[in-house]
Amino acid sequence: MRDPRYDILFEPLKIGPVTAPNRFYQVPHCNGMGRTFPNAMIGMRGMKAEGGWGIVTTEQCDFHVTGDTQAFTETNMWDEGDETYLGRMVEAVHEHGSLAGIELVHNGQDTANLYSREVPIGPDHRPASWMRHPIQARAMDKDDIRAYRRWHRKAAERARNIGFDIVVVYSGHDGTMPTHFLARRHNHRTDEYGGSLENRLRLFRELIEETKEAVGDTMGVIVRFAVDEMMGPDGLEWQNEGREAVEMLAELPDLWDVNVSDWANDSKTSRFAPEGYQEEYVAFVKQMTTKPVSTVGRYTSPDAMVSAIKRGVIDLIGAARPSIADPFLPRKIEEGRPEDIRECIGCNICVAWNNVSAPSRCTQNPTFGEEWRKGWHPERIRTKESDDRVLIVGAGPAGLEAARAAGRRGYHVTLAEAADELGGRVSRESRLPGLTAWARVRDYRIGQLHQMTNVEVFPASTLEAANVLELGAQHVALATGARWRRDGVGYTLREPVQGFDQPHVLSPDDLMDGKRPPDGPVLIFDDDGYYMASVLSDLLRDEGRDVIVATPSTQVAQWTEHTLEQEPIEARMAERGVTMLTRHTLETIGPSTVTLSDDLNRRDVTLACAGVVLVTARLPRDGLWHDLAAKGDDIAAAGIKSIRRIGDCYGPGPIVTAVYMGHRFAQELDTEPDPDGVPFRRERHLIEA
Ligand code: ADP
Ligand code: SF4
Repeated sequence: MRDPRYDILFEPLKIGPVTAPNRFYQVPHCNGMGRTFPNAMIGMRGMKAEGGWGIVTTEQCDFHVTGDTQAFTETNMWDEGDETYLGRMVEAVHEHGSLAGIELVHNGQDTANLYSREVPIGPDHRPASWMRHPIQARAMDKDDIRAYRRWHRKAAERARNIGFDIVVVYSGHDGTMPTHFLARRHNHRTDEYGGSLENRLRLFRELIEETKEAVGDTMGVIVRFAVDEMMGPDGLEWQNEGREAVEMLAELPDLWDVNVSDWANDSKTSRFAPEGYQEEYVAFVKQMTTKPVSTVGRYTSPDAMVSAIKRGVIDLIGAARPSIADPFLPRKIEEGRPEDIRECIGCNICVAWNNVSAPSRCTQNPTFGEEWRKGWHPERIRTKESDDRVLIVGAGPAGLEAARAAGRRGYHVTLAEAADELGGRVSRESRLPGLTAWARVRDYRIGQLHQMTNVEVFPASTLEAANVLELGAQHVALATGARWRRDGVGYTLREPVQGFDQPHVLSPDDLMDGKRPPDGPVLIFDDDGYYMASVLSDLLRDEGRDVIVATPSTQVAQWTEHTLEQEPIEARMAERGVTMLTRHTLETIGPSTVTLSDDLNRRDVTLACAGVVLVTARLPRDGLWHDLAAKGDDIAAAGIKSIRRIGDCYGPGPIVTAVYMGHRFAQELDTEPDPDGVPFRRERHLIEA
């Protein structure tokens, strides 16, 4: 039974001519599947509807060849040939009584039109911005603007004919045509589309009016609008032009979906922003309009959602990441079990995979993107096929997920963990600055394990090979994790760095264990490129140490560009006085100095430092695996049918991979996957006759 405090979340809401069944709005979000992996995309969207999201929309859907998003795998709707897959998505959403929405997008001057080869268009002549290809957008003349408006109107009509209930007209993220016209820095026109705010807003107003005219009696028209670009007076600010723009268009949309821009600001990670962080920017909107308002902000707590509605900030809860981490979030609240919500940890792994043009994945939800491909369901899993017992060694993300999923299948599961606390690396890393929310990976799973009587958990239990043989399990998963290397070997250094074997040279594990180098400056050598070096730099700065981060890459924390964190990481390091040496490779470590090669200037640099931290790569902690392998026939004699390594013990990687491997282990128990085959359904392109 639902807690009556949450009733307001389940009140229907009229959006123009259509009615959303509740207040849960899965806003448009990229997913790296889109048009390229349409079956996967449809399966994923349908799952959101099944899980209770009252509105489920597409990601951005580009509607004309001049706005081609290649190499990103968004949806597109260029001609009637695209109606089939989009129609299938609509059906998948309607099957569960939700409204299907489509976000019409033209990325204007940002796209280089890599597939269509059309010359990009925008308000001004300027280089196309995505990925800095040597391609320019040309300034649109009046005919171009008329044509663009026609394409948009036709797209809205096509969307209606396909069966969509809602169309999203979109000006946000510093990445769509109306945004480009609106921004002073992008628009230097002297005609009626440039100059004053009214003029710069003209195109957006026309699009909204024409969309309403074309489909407004059949579809709800949502306007998605970034009210603040978070760049001070250089961009739109909610106190000035952002507010005035909303005021000018106040009653035009059926619903205002407001946020901040660009994408990095809209999808901040938990390291840089808490739940509900956009409220302060968008709270004014409801005072400007009688139309309903929604925003996003990584809402996962029903109390925070109710509070945002009751305080009059919004009427509808927008969510992308929380709906990825838990497609069943609304149903869980409705069924009175909010403690079962698998809360997004705000890591942006989902974003990163999209940004590298691969199907998205989720750290918390291993079934995301696998709904069609593997037939995995985030909440249901088929029951066990035997009474075999399962032993899992190690309770990090891989072991915890394996135990949870195998437990849900009904197997008798024993989970043994050497440490006093469960969680493995997520417990350890969540104690580092800014990563508290990562403990949700552990907490959700422990919460689920507590509900199962068929899973026994033994902390403070280091298992050796002999113990594994004695425990009477038929299937064993070794989820014993990995440790950071101590020798500096990684992407760049292929041989151990000279001088690594000294007491003042530490690994990230050492720091997490509480060890510290002697007083004095610390050099962190980052050849990993993800978050760890920057987080350790925060830790050491918090403790008052002078920190130098050296990396062979051209930027610090280079890979975090994909998680939209690189800029804030670099800014924070600069703010805190961390010395950053890019294109510097560690050569030797002395007792109180290090020598680095300055790869740009091709010279050596020697720096004084009291300690060195090597953040380069990890090695599996697989001693138990090798000990068991040495047991030979004793394994079968002990009744063990299978021993598998999962997670970092099998292949060190990001947490998302460990969770996935844990889940996969449980899914594949009592199956015999073909080791030579492809372990998932494939998307096939049709070859014309
Ligand atoms: P993953 O990311 O693959 O889940 P982690 O490093 O987070 O890996 O977790 C591995 C866990 O396994 C750690 O908590 C570690 O204490 C535990 N562990 C390692 N070896 C043993 C062992 N022999 N017996 C029990 N637990 C172990
Ligand atoms: Fe949230 Fe991370 Fe999952 Fe994205 S990948 S939905 S940020 S938990």
